[in-house]
Order: sequence, then C-alpha cells, then structure tokens
Amino acid sequence: MSLSFKDIKGKYPREFSGGELQRISITRALLSKPSLIIVDEPVSMIDASMRMNILNMFKSLKDDDKISFIYVTHDLATAYYISDDIAIMYRGVIVEVGPAEKVLIERYHPYTKALIETLPEYSKRNEWFAKKVKPPGIEVKEFMISYYKYAHLCHFKMDICTQKRPPMIDVNGVKVSCWLYKK
Ligand code: SF4
Repeated sequence: MSLSFKDIKGKYPREFSGGELQRISITRALLSKPSLIIVDEPVSMIDASMRMNILNMFKSLKDDDKISFIYVTHDLATAYYISDDIAIMYRGVIVEVGPAEKVLIERYHPYTKALIETLPEYSKRNEWFAKKVKPPGIEVKEFMISYYKYAHLCHFKMDICTQKRPPMIDVNGVKVSCWLYKK
C-alpha cells in the first residue's frame, strides 16, 4: 500500500512501522536527485510484495535514470536481482568482487563458496565443500595475528596465509583475494 502525504502529515517517526520508515527514507533520499545512493539493508523490514516494488524501483532508477547504487545486504537473492557487480566481504575485507552472476555461480574464494553452499537452497549441493570447512570457533590469538582474517576457518590455509595478505588476483574476470590463485 502506498503512503500518501495525508498518511504521514503531523506524525512522529515512532508512529510509523519499520517498513514505512524504510520507504520514507528511500523517498527522502531521492528528493535531492542523487547520482549515487548507498542503501544498507533497504528492504529487510518490508514485506515480500512491497519488497519487489522497491527493488523494481531501484532497478528502474539504475537502468533508466542512471543512478548508481551501493547496495549493502546479507540477502544474496536481492543482491543478485539488483546488482551488476557484487563484492563479498568477510570481516570488513573484500575477498571477491566481479560481475554478480560470475561471483555467485562460479564462486572462487573459499569464503564465497562456504557462504553460498550453506544457504538452505544450496545445502544439498557440493556437500564436499561444506565438509572441508572447519566449524566456526575463532581462535582469538590466531585471528589477531592473521594478516588474512579468514585463515582461522579455511581448510586450504597455507603458511603464507598468516604471513602476508593476499593480493587481488584476476580469476576469469573476477578479482579474488586468495593465495590459492597465485601462480
Ligand atoms: S588466502 Fe589462504 S586462508 Fe585465505 S581463503 Fe585463500 S587459502 Fe584460505
């Protein structure tokens, strides 16, 4: 349901639902006619039907009005729907970045693989990989000394992984920060 001026006039923020506040924030961001909008979990509190409306609005602003978006989310499905490029981050570090389809389907970085394989719909596929990933449980000391923060969980960890941060390496058009791909 759309929000009219009559619905919002004279109300305090606490009188709106989370979803309504998100929609108002998005509208407010558009008033200045920006060339770039940064959105952080913009549809997380919005019900499924309204979610598609907002995602389609973003798509049309991107494709027709040439407004760029940085879309920050934990929801890979909406990220895939809206994005040209996706960057996967682990603890504040970009570990893989490239065209959305390549990143999500080809999955070069061990963390990207683990992240996607553990989603419910993918859990039955490539089970071999899930078995190779060590269970969570951070060894704090190891985490602090690691140049590379995923090393404490990675089955493929080599000596160099805790000594030097991996560069971004081009793998079939995707940039991957992992020593596995260093030639
Ligand atoms: S750099 Fe090393 S620890 Fe990090 S993902 Fe690659 S193999 Fe695993």
